[in-house]
Amino acid sequence: MIPLPKKICLSCRNFSLQNSDGGVCKVVKGLASYPLKATGDTCDQWKDCGQQYFIRTGWIKAQLAEEKGIKVITGTGIIN
Ligand code: SF4
Repeated sequence: MIPLPKKICLSCRNFSLQNSDGGVCKVVKGLASYPLKATGDTCDQWKDCGQQYFIRTGWIKAQLAEEKGIKVITGTGIIN
């Protein structure tokens, strides 16, 4: 059984991933610039993003592998 994600930004519906370290929090809409958050940050406004969590973790793994020049086979094909 796949373990459930922790209540962190990476598994939050309000989070927008921008690189392998983090992204921005869009819990407050319409800001000129959204606050930067690390993937492991958290707060009491966390909302489950469902399958998006697994898509994000897959993307991060592929990004890190690409930085090292490694070919990665994902569910959707080969990256790099
Ligand atoms: S700071 Fe809170 S609301 Fe914003 S992305 Fe992280 S857990 Fe979600």
